[in-house]
Amino acid sequence: FIIPEFVQFTQRIDELFWRAKANTQGQLASYIPQLTRFNPESWGLAICTVDGQRYSLGDAYDPICLQSISKPLTYAMVLDEIGPDVVHQYVGQEPSGQAFNTISLDPMNRPHNPMVNAGAVVICSLLKQGMNLADKFDYNQQKLKLLAGNEYVSFNNSVFLSERQTADRNYALGYYMKEKQCFPKGTNLHELLDFYFQLCSVEITCDSGAVVAATLANGGICPITGVKVLEPYCIRDTLSLMLSCGMYDYSGQFAFKVGLPGKSGVSGGIMLVVPNVMGIFMWSPPLDHYGNSCRGIQFCEDLVKSFNFHNYDNL
Ligand code: GLN
Repeated sequence: FIIPEFVQFTQRIDELFWRAKANTQGQLASYIPQLTRFNPESWGLAICTVDGQRYSLGDAYDPICLQSISKPLTYAMVLDEIGPDVVHQYVGQEPSGQAFNTISLDPMNRPHNPMVNAGAVVICSLLKQGMNLADKFDYNQQKLKLLAGNEYVSFNNSVFLSERQTADRNYALGYYMKEKQCFPKGTNLHELLDFYFQLCSVEITCDSGAVVAATLANGGICPITGVKVLEPYCIRDTLSLMLSCGMYDYSGQFAFKVGLPGKSGVSGGIMLVVPNVMGIFMWSPPLDHYGNSCRGIQFCEDLVKSFNFHNYDNL
C-alpha cells in the first residue's frame, strides 16, 4: 500500500478534521440564493489513495456543485481531445493576478489561464466542437463519471437556472472575448455560456470527488475501476496550472505553504491532489475573502504541517 499504516493515518486526519471544524470564520457565497441556503456548519472530507484506500468523514455524502472545480476537469478533457499545442493557441498558462471573473486578456488576446472564468469559457468552446449542446453535456458527464469511478455525478438544475439569471459579468466577458475573436469559428455564445453554467452546476460529493482527485493523482487511471480516462500529459499540464492558478488570488500563497495542486469553487469545495499518493476532496460553505473554503484551507495547511506532502518537502 502507498500509505501502509492507513488506520494510524486516518486517526491523524480525524484530528485535523475536527480542528478545522472548530473554525467558524468565513461567509457563505451570496450571488445566487441556492448557495446561501447551505448550512455554514457543513464540513465533509474524503480521501482516496492511488491504490484505492478510502476514508470519508463528516458531510462527505452531501451533493455539492463543482462550480470552478469543473474548470481543471474540462481543461484536462480538452487537452486529451485536441492536444496542448492547439489548446494553448486559445488560452495562456500564466496566473492572471486578478479576480477570477475579471474582464481581461493577455497581450496575445487570450485568457490568462484555464482556471479563470474567461479561460474556462474558451475551454468550453473547444470541447467537442461541432457537437450539439446535449451531446457535449453527455460527453462531459460521461468523462466525469469515468474520472469518478462511476460514483456520484449529478446535475443541479436550480443552480444552473440561477447562474444563468445572474450572469451579467459572464455575458460581458463572453461578448468581450467574441469581439477579440477568442473563440473558434462557429461558436454560438449563448449556447456556450449555457454549457459553462451547466458544468458549474454538475454535482458530486466529497466521496466521489476524492475519486476524481485520485484519478488525477494517478496519472489519469481511475484507482477504483482501473480505467484509463485521460493521458498522463493531460494530467501533468492540469496539475501544473492547478498549482499556479487553482486557488484564486491565494494561489501563490497556497503553492508556497501547501505546495500541492488544488482547485477551489465558490460552493466551498476544494479538490487537492497529492501526485502519486492520493486525492482529497473537502467541502465547507463558508468562504474567506479570496473565495476559498476557510475550513478547507485550514485543513490543507495543517495537513502539510503534519505530513511531508509539500512538493518540496525533503522525504
Ligand atoms: N459559477 C460562478 C461564475 O462563473 C462561480 C465560479 C466559481 O466557483 N468561482 O461566476
